[in-house]
Amino acid sequence: MFTIVTKIKYEYAHRLILHQGQCRNVHGHSGEVTVELCAEQLNENGFVMDFADVKAPLKQWINDHWDHAYLANEADPLLPSLKAQEVKVFCFPAEPSAEVMARYLYEYLSQLPLPVGVSIKRITVLETCTGSAIYEPSKA
Ligand SMILES: [Zn+2]
Repeated sequence: MFTIVTKIKYEYAHRLILHQGQCRNVHGHSGEVTVELCAEQLNENGFVMDFADVKAPLKQWINDHWDHAYLANEADPLLPSLKAQEVKVFCFPAEPSAEVMARYLYEYLSQLPLPVGVSIKRITVLETCTGSAIYEPSKA
């Protein structure tokens, strides 16, 4: 099994409205997404696949939706005020944790056309230099 790995960095603010600790306060992170794609066979170029075919659309999507944005639980009572001031906001139907972000990106990437035999192995969202969350599909 071959695996290829690429990373995309972005800056964001968030808060976890249900958290009882300091994560309930608005704060920022320099986030980093790591995407791992795998295949049993290599293509004619000796690649799992051309990573640009995944990285370009994913980077564009993150730039458009998450970079320098406030990532929010859709129940966050700050949202009407932020939207009224045209702050860049992205809402989840859950807390905007690194775990939720990782699963969200897995679902986004699952909609992109991947070459036959290539699959998404794992998505990692690094939130701090010492903390990250991983989403990987369950084995069928
Ligand atoms: Zn945080």
